[in-house]
Amino acid sequence: MRAHVDKDICIGCGLCPDICPEVFSMDDDGKAIASAEEIPEDVIDSAKEAEESCPVEAIKIEE
Ligand code: SF4
Repeated sequence: MRAHVDKDICIGCGLCPDICPEVFSMDDDGKAIASAEEIPEDVIDSAKEAEESCPVEAIKIEE
């Protein structure tokens, strides 16, 4: 599974790196970026929690 952030939708609230810093971080534009790597098994639950918690549904986690 990989995470993807739609930067056009992200409002830069900072929630996703708080919930799952292994996958999400903030870039220089103040928008979130997701690691391009496969999500490690032990953080899939927190990555999904970040997806569900994003206030503007900018995060998609896909196979
Ligand atoms: S939770 Fe959503 S809006 Fe907030 S920084 Fe992450 S992707 Fe952007």
